[in-house]
Amino acid sequence: MKKTLVFPVLLFILSFLAQAQELVVGIKPEIVGQGKTLVIYLESSPALKDLEGKFLGREIRFYEVGEDRYRAILGIPLAIEPGGYEILFRIKTEEGLRIEWKEAVQIEKSVFKKETLSLPSTKSEMLTSKYLEKEGKKIKRTYKEEEVKQLWEGRFILPAEGRISSPFGAHRVYNEGKASWRHRGVDIANREGTEVLAPNSGRVVLSEDMEVHGGTIIISHGQGIFSVLTHLKERLVKKGEKVERGQLIGTMGQTGLATAPHLHWGLSASEVMVDPLEWTEKKIGD
Ligand SMILES: [Zn+2]
Repeated sequence: MKKTLVFPVLLFILSFLAQAQELVVGIKPEIVGQGKTLVIYLESSPALKDLEGKFLGREIRFYEVGEDRYRAILGIPLAIEPGGYEILFRIKTEEGLRIEWKEAVQIEKSVFKKETLSLPSTKSEMLTSKYLEKEGKKIKRTYKEEEVKQLWEGRFILPAEGRISSPFGAHRVYNEGKASWRHRGVDIANREGTEVLAPNSGRVVLSEDMEVHGGTIIISHGQGIFSVLTHLKERLVKKGEKVERGQLIGTMGQTGLATAPHLHWGLSASEVMVDPLEWTEKKIGD
């Protein structure tokens, strides 16, 4: 969806001279699924002084992607109720005029798998352990690291060879209902020691061993997009390092809460976990 909005801006009341503020708004895709990614574009002529937006109760972070061109990439929560939602835009023109308007977004249901798992007691203790909350907080903190440049390029690649043993969004029930949650990433299963590659270019913002997540690497791809790779056997990159798409960064393992060797790959967009496979299937943000 792309449309042009023209707001008449009265510049000089006395001379009755009016100038138009032209805005081109694009929202892709028009109907977006739960757990998928939404891209908002805005082009303005003349330039804007301020641009703000709100979606699902949160402020939208826009990034400049060209002259007078702005973009925001937003994750759609996987458990959100399907239906019609609105994006609120607030701009301030160079003349200081404030304009507010809304755009509609349709969220549709995605199909998610149901899985039942049983874990040995030593592992199941981790589901309720203090580590899980602590590690979750630590990972979320890295999503706040600002990188205004887009570091990724084109489609993402699958970070390891293997079979998809658990898809994004699966409803997981552990040990006959003693614990359950949603799987916020995709699992790729293969032999221990299988090469793990950077799914796209970026900067390493975390590389360490954790109790529940095991060996973990987080890559910032810029503009609020992060890859989280967990259960690694070896980590071959350090925090702060730049990585290229396809670069060897570690090896597959079963460290932390894992019952077999696999790689868990999570993708965060605007601090919402989304389906990473969508990013391998198409170029997002173009
Ligand atoms: Zn997983």
